[in-house]
Amino acid sequence: MSYRGLIEHYRKYLPVTDKTPVISLLEGNTPLIPAEKLAKAIGFPGKIFLKYEGLNPTGSFKDRGMTMAISKAVEDGSRAVICASTGNTSASAAAYAARAGIKCVVLIPEGKIALGKLSQALIHNAAVLSIDGNFDAALNLVKEMSQKYPLTLVNSLNPFRIEGQKTGAFEICDVLGQSPDYQFMPVGNAGNITAYWKGYREYASEFPAYGKPVMMGFQAAGSAPIVHGHPIEKPETIATAIRIGNPASWKSAEAARDESGGVIDTVTDDEILDAYKLLASLEGVFCEPASAASVAGLMKYSRNRFFDGKAGKSSSKTLKAVCILTGHGLKDPDRAISSVSKPVSVKSDLKAILKAIGL
Ligand SMILES: *Cc1c(COP(=O)(O)O)cnc(C)c1O
Repeated sequence: MSYRGLIEHYRKYLPVTDKTPVISLLEGNTPLIPAEKLAKAIGFPGKIFLKYEGLNPTGSFKDRGMTMAISKAVEDGSRAVICASTGNTSASAAAYAARAGIKCVVLIPEGKIALGKLSQALIHNAAVLSIDGNFDAALNLVKEMSQKYPLTLVNSLNPFRIEGQKTGAFEICDVLGQSPDYQFMPVGNAGNITAYWKGYREYASEFPAYGKPVMMGFQAAGSAPIVHGHPIEKPETIATAIRIGNPASWKSAEAARDESGGVIDTVTDDEILDAYKLLASLEGVFCEPASAASVAGLMKYSRNRFFDGKAGKSSSKTLKAVCILTGHGLKDPDRAISSVSKPVSVKSDLKAILKAIGL
């Protein structure tokens, strides 16, 4: 049978009933791409897989949570949803609200939204309000508004978002036939690390042989409240999707880290950009900068010989690491263009072209 979206696919693990109107764009079911060249290049002693969440309908993993949040909002009779967003939540909320035929209001931090994401919220006809404050200020405002007015909050504080997003863990286990040994991922508002850990725990209680991964979360160095143990007033990073100073799911991110025996650590913007360019040039996989924090983290831990002497839990003992590539590179074309060399201008003349490419 053809794929019908993650709610239908994982229905028995999700809080839906026959009465839930399923609002779906056939999200989920994203590829788990082997990255052998990357493993070799960085000296990782095992197999690396890239969970390419940029191939969701609106180009990020947020669609997994949004299909649930919007379906449940419609089930509850809501006519409008609201969110604060660094970009991808608004793109996803706007698309699913359009599909459901309800209103969508989004608050974004002024000037810090990647162009692709902003264009999505606008084309799906959301009411987009750009505030003169950062994401954390926007989130406080929408929380207050959702309490006082008939607006359903669809940030990851909405528990249905976490339910939808946990299916990423199910998919990885279904493909590998086990959980990975390590999962590397970016951490922003920390909903996704919370969701993955919930998914792995639930699957492991149903299929004990799958086990659970060690959770390795990465914040950008200029925006690392969990690592430093206090909120960051003015978070800064080129990875705008994780430019968050006071994560809503702080406690549950720490629980995921501690229960799995993992870490939440930093990667610098330079490390993020190196990973971003390496993935694109070496593996043909284009993700947005925030997503590359996962691979930057894996590179950092490989470099520091963290994996020396460690063995995988599969019968082959091969170490398996999954990196979650949370969003598509086309979300932020400006960053791509500013990170690499520009097109070379040549005359429309065969000789000039051959000379330019060194032939
Ligand atoms: C939202 C987002 C993140 C951060 O996820 P959290 O659940 O907020 O930790 C990372 N990368 C991308 C591309 C995102 O859109």
